[in-house]
Amino acid sequence: MNHDNSHQHHNHNHCIETALATAEALCAEQGQRLTKVRRRALELIWESHRPLGAYQLLAKLAEEGFNSAPPTVYRALDFLLAAGLVHKVESMNAYLGCAHADKVHKGYFLICDECRNVMEFDYQDIHAALIEKAAQQGFELRAETIELTGLCAKCKAQAVGENA
Ligand SMILES: [Zn+2]
Ligand SMILES: [Zn+2]
Ligand SMILES: [Zn+2]
Repeated sequence: MNHDNSHQHHNHNHCIETALATAEALCAEQGQRLTKVRRRALELIWESHRPLGAYQLLAKLAEEGFNSAPPTVYRALDFLLAAGLVHKVESMNAYLGCAHADKVHKGYFLICDECRNVMEFDYQDIHAALIEKAAQQGFELRAETIELTGLCAKCKAQAVGENA
């Protein structure tokens, strides 16, 4: 799957609008309701390409006068996760909006050490290789957490600029 140049200069409003439109469409298709709190939670997670922790989300929703009791927020998060609208980035214990929610896939992530932006990357080849390697050891693969850390293109370019 193609990821957009999330970390390059881009019109992020476009990311947000697309994500919300996809969410509306998916929910309608599945007969689910994108309630106000679910929608706002998704929007807040999409404020940037930096994953948002549950407590940060809780605080933001509280500020806006939503019922921000932890169960409400966790239920909204569970819904967004189950719908594939967000991914959990385990190593950051935080949530990232998914730009490909309409396609079934696993979240494999590139995490920038510098700006903390997270980008998804294509998983299909790796996924097939993992299943095969695990099977060679008689192991049935059930879950994969692939989170790579490093420097994103933008931060790398900045670092080069500073050293010049
Ligand atoms: Zn964006
Ligand atoms: Zn995704
Ligand atoms: Zn970066």
